[in-house]
Amino acid sequence: RLASVSTAPPDSILGLTEAFLADTNPNKMNLSVGVYKDASGKTPILECVKEAERRLIDDESTKGYLGIDGLPAYREHVRQLVFGDRVEADRIAVLQSPGGTGALRVASDFLVTQLSPIRIWMSSPTWANHPAIFNAAGLPSDTYRYLGSDRTSFDVDAMIEDLDTKTSPGDAILLHACCHNPTGIDPTPDQWKQIAETVAMRQLLPLIDFAYQGFGDGLTEDTLGLYTLLDAVDEAIVCTSFSKNFGLYSERVGAVCLIAADAGAMKASQSQLKAIVRSNYSNPPRHGGAIVATVLDDAKLTDQWKGEVEQMRQRITRLRTDFVTTMKTTGQGHDFSFLLPQRGMFSFSGLTPMQVDQLKQKHGIYIVGSGRINVAGMSEEKMQQLCDAVAAVLES
Ligand code: PMP
Repeated sequence: RLASVSTAPPDSILGLTEAFLADTNPNKMNLSVGVYKDASGKTPILECVKEAERRLIDDESTKGYLGIDGLPAYREHVRQLVFGDRVEADRIAVLQSPGGTGALRVASDFLVTQLSPIRIWMSSPTWANHPAIFNAAGLPSDTYRYLGSDRTSFDVDAMIEDLDTKTSPGDAILLHACCHNPTGIDPTPDQWKQIAETVAMRQLLPLIDFAYQGFGDGLTEDTLGLYTLLDAVDEAIVCTSFSKNFGLYSERVGAVCLIAADAGAMKASQSQLKAIVRSNYSNPPRHGGAIVATVLDDAKLTDQWKGEVEQMRQRITRLRTDFVTTMKTTGQGHDFSFLLPQRGMFSFSGLTPMQVDQLKQKHGIYIVGSGRINVAGMSEEKMQQLCDAVAAVLES
């Protein structure tokens, strides 16, 4: 029977890392996968996380199962961090999940089992795992336009036109709360208002992917788009992740948050979300959630964490600016200033698939085929080398 199983295609981004590891070029550079790296090229464990783990080793008294929806203290911190007092607490269900990916999958299962027939609208482009998760859950998906024809700006008019003319009432819409992946291009506050008005008018259910809180303009500032939406609609699902802003990638810690119009509707949906989790992974892993709760329970550790998030954000901004400035000095006449307003780990470089391929073949520099560069993977030390290589492929 197993002889009939065909080989699955490699993951488009993780497959690049396999090719990178096999590359013998001593100057190779991996700017594909979305992880933060410090000046020494490592993905560090935050100091506040190390301290929380020391405390957990001393204080943890059981490895018994968590509830289906996770650690209560963690869930309460997620609610406060993401929603503040913007939404009444009794309208929000928070379930701890294995990363943002797990949250997205639980949310997708919920849409399919509770709200079918339903389809979800995604930006074109979006994170490659979005359509993959929706497909796996059996959730039909379609796309709205997002990037302008120059591939360097957000075309809000095209997006609104697609939402106005293609969606049906009751459809879901996927939105990136900040640090749009893969483009790095976020709506302005006015554009968020336009989007929120359209979402409300078309009676769409927003599914908001909030994987990069703190990596755009700041932990509070990055809630602007989310809050603008929540002012316009009374139902939404928000998927959060602490992979990036706590550097807890491998601990798998996120949350699926459902906002209902009232407490009764929230309770019913919460019970369905729990049923989905129970038959999927039963209950979430404790460690990552316990780390986050330990940090956010302690004012000093919380301040330390905020400082560490700021350092990561500022480093990314500095590298993005350095890249634009250094590209100017290569004398190839291509202005990358359009990157400056971009936010988060990624930047859409505008490089063509052929140029991306040349970067890999001739220079050992790995970026995603769409031209997405992981800015958080750049380094001051290798900036000149990177820019010389980009200049060479632009000129060839
Ligand atoms: N959404 C987006 C847009 C992402 O880029 C990522 C991470 N690459 C995630 C969700 C999920 O991250 P994780 O499952 O690691 O928390």
